Amino acid sequence: MANLKVDAQAEVENVRVFVRVRPLTKKEEAEGHQHILLIDTKENLIALNRDGSSPKPFKFDQVFPEDATQLTLYRVIAVPIVEKSLQGYNGTIFAYGQTGTGKTYTMAGNYTKPDLKGIIPNTFSHIFSQISRASGETSFVVTVTYLEIYNEEVRDLLSADPNKKLAIRERPDVGVYVKDLMGFTVDSIESITELLNRGNKNRVTRSTLMNDVSSRSHAIFTITIESKNRSNNKTTVGKLNLVDLAGSERASRTQATGERLREASNINLSLSVLGNVISALVDGKSSHIPYRNSKLTRLLQDSLGGNSKTAMIAMVSPADIDYEESMCTLRYAARVKHIQNHARINV
Ligand code: ADP
Ligand code: MG
Repeated sequence: MANLKVDAQAEVENVRVFVRVRPLTKKEEAEGHQHILLIDTKENLIALNRDGSSPKPFKFDQVFPEDATQLTLYRVIAVPIVEKSLQGYNGTIFAYGQTGTGKTYTMAGNYTKPDLKGIIPNTFSHIFSQISRASGETSFVVTVTYLEIYNEEVRDLLSADPNKKLAIRERPDVGVYVKDLMGFTVDSIESITELLNRGNKNRVTRSTLMNDVSSRSHAIFTITIESKNRSNNKTTVGKLNLVDLAGSERASRTQATGERLREASNINLSLSVLGNVISALVDGKSSHIPYRNSKLTRLLQDSLGGNSKTAMIAMVSPADIDYEESMCTLRYAARVKHIQNHARINV
């Protein structure tokens, strides 16, 4: 990876919020749906223009239009966080949005094609290239876990039995952890990619059995990087969480009842707790951060806040039919960071 420069803003800010817009699909085009987004990439403003009235834009750390490449997102969003994780800090990248807006495309992408690789496979290349460049004095141990949270239940995507529910425990010496979660040590891009594939296959299998559970579950791929300097015996440990969140669509739209309604309320709960946690961290005033109110935030507690770096990427569809959901996504993402809205958008 050629350009690993970390921009100054990423250095000083611990929480950054981004928006990515996917292109209209062929089907949406064929059905005559309109592209209703207005984007000002200079000011990083975005607005939904449904009825031609002048819409109020939202401002973010950066807005990525539909032609933004995977590598651009990697450089802007992930490089600062991955670099910090190599130095012993924790970091988390979340993909948020309605199902079908590009969360999995952004996090995983198509990693058989170099240009279409998402953040997770680009992270693999980045980490192993930095490790191979490090001086002989420093040795690294890279460990991976991959879990799914569905209906507030935790499952290990790398286990031989990915259907088994795992318990969350807490110990004063190690903090919050998942009992029996498998951790694998990896020493190459190939071996870490193999684990990603294995976990994804388990996700898909469970999804086929349970009617697309993957869009209704959070997947957390965690890379722990331990580095030890032989000359001063100093050890640092950095943890990087790459999170493909459950679809944020509201239950009313899918007309859910029974089990689906329970799923939907669990998703709503965990996404709203996540929003509350991040916005409390941005605020910096609140002494109580509500980590314990969902499994997702409880598990990520040691990677949210303090010196940790957090990025949220809110995905939106450009189509008129998705107006309501896109509006909810932009409001959620804006609330997370309390970025001042601008009165006007110039595009
Ligand atoms: P989600 O994980 O949010 O449900 P996906 O990542 O599966 O959504 O994306 C839905 C579809 O849109 C996929 O076919 C994906 O390839 C396509 N897509 C998403 N984002 C982009 C993008 N930025 N450029 C091109 N195609 C995209
Ligand atoms: Mg997905």
